Amino acid sequence: MSGAAAKRIALVTGASRGIGRAVALELARQNWHVVAIARAQKALEKLDDDIRALGGGEATLIPLDLKDGASIDQLAAPLFERFGKLDGLAACAGALGSLTPAHQATPAIMDETILVNYLANQRLIRALHPLLRESDAGRAVFLTSGASKNPRAYWSPYAASKAALDALVISWAAEIGNVTPMRANLFNPGGTRTSMRAKAFPGEDPMTLPTPEEVAPSIVAMLQPSYTENGAWIQFERR
Ligand code: NAP
Repeated sequence: MSGAAAKRIALVTGASRGIGRAVALELARQNWHVVAIARAQKALEKLDDDIRALGGGEATLIPLDLKDGASIDQLAAPLFERFGKLDGLAACAGALGSLTPAHQATPAIMDETILVNYLANQRLIRALHPLLRESDAGRAVFLTSGASKNPRAYWSPYAASKAALDALVISWAAEIGNVTPMRANLFNPGGTRTSMRAKAFPGEDPMTLPTPEEVAPSIVAMLQPSYTENGAWIQFERR
């Protein structure tokens, strides 16, 4: 085997910016081949340039709207043909929607948060489970939020979608844990210096927050074969 096929392969959603982009770069630094997903094609191309500049070879770029479930269904076949397996899934894409009273949340806000934060991840599990099963140690990590456990006023669209994600991942983990080498876990980065955080807390000084680059290594650690937790809900701890 040579090139990408000789490396461990990870699919990263939300790879165009924020935490997902930092995870993709950290994976490349650690010699993984990255399959990068987001809608912003130019940002994915910039990620590819930055991975090449690290000496990490090329990335596989898949511009895709995670609200389009049929596109997610079509991911697995070409990945299987090219790599025969998937070693890691870092599900970093997320949508805040809008902070709004529950009684005023529009169908569009609910559709976006539930589709991106919850349903797309179920569709990814459905499509990618067979590929992760082909790995000697398939690992999946899904980015959740403290809001999933502690919903607050005006946060219901996002909080409900992340609570549904938690239930999904913990159920899936319980199914795979004893009968496969696969592991699935949840990771809460906590407040991190990204555009999503700035939208949620416009008055906050972003310089007080950890950067995506500080958070990313903890997520990459959860994709390693040596990481054997399953069904865990992990909170980022700043060092
Ligand atoms: P971000 O900077 O807003 O990035 C979000 C990413 O998700 C982007 O790459 C975006 O790519 C992608 N995305 C959004 N909608 C998409 C869609 N319909 N189709 C495909 N990709 C889509 O967010 P972040 O702060 O890095 O957050 C990363 C994860 O951590 C999220 O799951 C978030 O809920 C969670 N989290 C963040 C914080 C925080 O303080 N930042 C705290 C707790 C949890 P495109 O726009 O290019 O499609």
